Amino acid sequence: ELAINTEAIRKEFPVLHQKVNGYPLVYLDNAATTQKPTQVIDALVDYYQGYNANIHRGIHTLAEKATSAFEQTRESVRSLLHAKQTEEIIFVRGVTEAINLVASSYGHTFIGEGDEIMISALEHHANIVPWQWVCQQKKATLRVIPITDAGEIDVDAYKKMLSPCTKLVALAHVSNTLGTINPVKEMIRMAHQAGAVILIDGAQAAGHLAVDVQELDCDFYCLSAHKLYGPTGIGVLYGKKALLERMPPYQGGGEMIREVTYAHTTYNDLPYKFEAGTPNIADVVAFWYAIEFIQKIGTPSIVAHEQELLAYCTEKLSALPFIQLVGRAKEKVGIVSFIMDGVHCFDVGQMLDAYGIAVRTGHHCTQPLMQRLGLDGTIRASFALYNTLAEIDKLAAMLEKISKILK
Ligand code: PMP
Repeated sequence: ELAINTEAIRKEFPVLHQKVNGYPLVYLDNAATTQKPTQVIDALVDYYQGYNANIHRGIHTLAEKATSAFEQTRESVRSLLHAKQTEEIIFVRGVTEAINLVASSYGHTFIGEGDEIMISALEHHANIVPWQWVCQQKKATLRVIPITDAGEIDVDAYKKMLSPCTKLVALAHVSNTLGTINPVKEMIRMAHQAGAVILIDGAQAAGHLAVDVQELDCDFYCLSAHKLYGPTGIGVLYGKKALLERMPPYQGGGEMIREVTYAHTTYNDLPYKFEAGTPNIADVVAFWYAIEFIQKIGTPSIVAHEQELLAYCTEKLSALPFIQLVGRAKEKVGIVSFIMDGVHCFDVGQMLDAYGIAVRTGHHCTQPLMQRLGLDGTIRASFALYNTLAEIDKLAAMLEKISKILK
């Protein structure tokens, strides 16, 4: 008995009702991006057909309507993350831009020679490269918290690595490759004890786990709307107000200013200080409907459903002798990475696609993690709230078929 009525839910996702290569689509690539419910798709059309206008500037009716819809999403994100204030919610392009914003603004102001920035061994490239740049430019050191063979962060090692030199920790809430849920609450507390600020990359957590930034006490939290049933091209940087106020703007332009002369510019209040230029209004407006969709179902039901899929898939694939699961953390979201004996992961991915099953293969933007695990890639099945046990049965059956064909 599933925690969610998938039959009803699936009706809200038009894209799921199609055949791919002659087979009903089985979409198991949700860690890359989730599909969008009708409400979100309709919201985009409604916006462009009904009240497209630039926000925050016009006094005309359409501009006011667009502004109010845009700001309504900010309040909704605040409630989703349980942030204290709406001005702590900054709209960006996605997690990638959120991290680049913090690296550029905070990193370049508050990181200096001899300082240390700490990341973990299971980070996405988006949470590696921007910190590498800060370290290169500031003569700081990038340190990497090791993981165990099961794909869990070595918290004891982290404890030993923290020192007064540690100025910033940047950590995934959930690994996009292995599904590991990191003990972020404890690690945030430890970072603060060492006097460091900490950024949490929530790309794979938001929409799959309850996130409460006040309870976590993280300094920054990042998410991408497209991974929680919202549109692409829009994401969120949450930051504690006191920190955001001390940080210089990331980009200069319209909207972020208070007054401009050739000699001097003063900046707008939060959050506008970090939102230069015309934002992605339509997608922000549509994101509200994705959040409403999630909140209506409720995080406890989403978690229960995805845990059930995870347990079922883990059991099914463990029973296949030619499959090796990669990443066996105790705490995981619905992400299952695996390899197949003697077959390259790309070939498996291609053959699954021939049967309508969409998975991701390769390094999943985590090349250093692959090196740590001694792999050049994995096959990854990742679940969302519209996936069913029957789809996992299909995956397992097709893997068996592929294994027989290749023998
Ligand atoms: N971090 C993690 C853990 C991710 O899974 C992703 C998306 N694959 C990102 C960062 C980057 O997100 P985006 O591409 O939406 O900016």
